[in-house]
Amino acid sequence: MSIPRTPKIAIIGTGFGGLGMAYYLKQAGIESFTIFEKADDVGGVWRENTYPGAACDIPSHLYSFSFEPHYPWARRYGRQSEILDYLRHVAHKYDLRSHVRFKQEVIGADFDARRSLWILSLRDGGSFEADLLISAVGQLHQPQIPVIAGIERFVGRAFHSARWQHDFDFHGKTAAVVGTGPSAVQLVPELAKQVKKLYVFQRSPGWCIPKYDRPYTRFERFLLTRIPQLHSLDRGKMFWLIEYLASALQPKSRINSLAKAIFKYGSRLLMRLQVKDAALRQKLTPDYPLGCKRTLLSNEWLATLAAPNVEVVTAPIASATPSGLATTDGKAYAVDALVYGTGFEATQFLAPMRITGLDQRTLDERWQKGAEAYLGMCVSGFPNLFIVYGPNTNLGAGSIIFMLECQQKYIVQAVKLMRDKGLASIDVLSQAERAFTDDIQARSRGSVYEAGCHSWYLTADGRNSNNWIGYMTDYKRAVRTLETAHFLLTPRVDIETRPNLLAA
Ligand SMILES: Cc1cc2nc3c(=O)[nH]c(=O)nc-3n(C[C@H](O)[C@H](O)[C@H](O)COP(=O)(O)OP(=O)(O)OC[C@H]3O[C@@H](n4cnc5c(N)ncnc54)[C@H](O)[C@@H]3O)c2cc1C
Repeated sequence: MSIPRTPKIAIIGTGFGGLGMAYYLKQAGIESFTIFEKADDVGGVWRENTYPGAACDIPSHLYSFSFEPHYPWARRYGRQSEILDYLRHVAHKYDLRSHVRFKQEVIGADFDARRSLWILSLRDGGSFEADLLISAVGQLHQPQIPVIAGIERFVGRAFHSARWQHDFDFHGKTAAVVGTGPSAVQLVPELAKQVKKLYVFQRSPGWCIPKYDRPYTRFERFLLTRIPQLHSLDRGKMFWLIEYLASALQPKSRINSLAKAIFKYGSRLLMRLQVKDAALRQKLTPDYPLGCKRTLLSNEWLATLAAPNVEVVTAPIASATPSGLATTDGKAYAVDALVYGTGFEATQFLAPMRITGLDQRTLDERWQKGAEAYLGMCVSGFPNLFIVYGPNTNLGAGSIIFMLECQQKYIVQAVKLMRDKGLASIDVLSQAERAFTDDIQARSRGSVYEAGCHSWYLTADGRNSNNWIGYMTDYKRAVRTLETAHFLLTPRVDIETRPNLLAA
C-alpha cells in the first residue's frame, strides 16, 4: 500500500497562470509549493509590457480571476498598470508572495526516473527538487526581434515593445514602428501624438474593430462597490457576449451569421469613417478572412495611420542603415528610434528552458514539428509535468484567464490524485495524447487560423500550435474531469521496490 503524501510542487512564473495555480492549490489545502519567478515582482506580461497605451482587449470584469471578481476597475478595459496592480493585490490578499522565490530563473529541468522527481536548474547555479513541475511561463513571453541585415550599424535607439526604454523621449523625433499587430495598434496612436514623423512598417494589415472602452462613471463605481454582485452580472454578460461573437471565427452557420456581420460591417464602417484616402484604405484592407490573425480592437489605430505625420510603409525592409531603414523598393527612412512591435516567439512555449523527460528526451526534440500536448497540458514521456497556457489553449476571441483557471482546477485534481493514491508519477498515455492532438490538428486544418495568413498562432510550417479550436465552454467541458484511464499511474511503492531502477 502506498502512503498518501502531498507532492512537493514547483511552479514557474507569477503571471495569471502561476498566481492562479497557487491560489487553487491553497484552496485545496496544499501549501507544499514553491514558485520561481525570474523577475523581482509578480505580474507576467503586465509587468513586462509597459509601452505607451498598453491595455487589455477583454473587459476587466471578464479578464480577471473568477475567485477575485470584485475590484474597483477604473474603466471597462484595464490598462497595463491597473492589471498589474490587480495581480499584486491578488498575490497579497491570498498570501502567495511568501511562496515565491523572486529573481530565480529556471534554465532547465530533468526528470529523475529513479526517484520520480524533477530536478530544476536555476540561473544562479542552484537546483531544486520537486515531485511535480508546473510551467506557467505563458505564450507571449520571449520578444520576437526581426532579423534586419546591418542592424548593428544603426546609431539610433532600437527596442522591442515589451522592453520599453522609458528614458527615450520621442517628442519631436522621427521614429519607425515595425509591425502592425496588437501591441503596435496600442502604441502607435500614443507615439504619433509625440513624434514629428512616424513610419509604420506593415507586412500585412489586420482586421480592426471598434473598442467600446470608457472610464466607469462615479455613479457606476459607487454602485459596483455597494453591490458587488454587479461585477459578476457584468462578467456573465461579457462572457456570453464574447462567446457568441467568437462564433464568427467558426465556419459559416445560421447561428453565427449575425456575429460575422457585426465584425464585417463594424470594421468596414470604422475604415470608411477614419480613412478617407482610398489608396490608404486599400493598403489597410486585409486579404484574408477575419480571425485568421488576432483581430485588432481600437478606436484610434486607423485614424492615426491616416494622420499627416504618419506614413504606412508596405515595401519590405531590405536592411538597416546607420540612420534608419532601407526598403526593397530603394527608399530610405531616416529615424531616431526603431520600435519592434513584432510580437513574441509564441510557438516556442517553454523555451529557452531545457526540459528533459524519460529516456533523456527533451521537449525541444519532441516538439520539433511544433508543440502539442494532451489538453494543452500534458506530454507523454514527461511525467509529473503540467503546462498552464500550453499548446492549443490560446483563444482567437475570449479571456485567457478563463482557460487558465480551467487548467489550474484540472491540475489540482492531478495533485490530489497523486496525494490520495500515493502516486510517484502520472504520465499521459501516448495514445490519449495522439487522439487529442490528431483531433485538434484535423479541426485546425479547416479553421480560420489556417486560412492562409501569417500569424503568431502558426509554426513555420503553417500548423496551428497555439489556438484552441472551439468555444471557451468546449474547453471547460473537455478538462472538467481528469480521465485516469488516459494516464499511466505509477504508485510510489512500485518505484521504491524496483530493484533494477534503484540500482541504476
Ligand atoms: C501586450 C499583451 C496584451 C495581451 N492582451 C490580452 C488580452 O487582451 N486578452 C487576453 O485574454 N490575453 C491577452 N494577452 C495574453 C496574456 O499572455 C495572457 O492573458 C496571460 O496574461 C498569460 O499569463 P501567464 O501567466 O500564462 O504568462 P505570463 O504573463 O507571460 O507570465 C509568465 C511569467 O513567468 C516568468 N518566467 C518565464 N520564464 C521563466 C523562467 N525560466 N524562470 C522563472 N520565471 C520565468 C515571467 O517572468 C513571467 O512573470 C496579452 C499579452 C500581451 C503580451
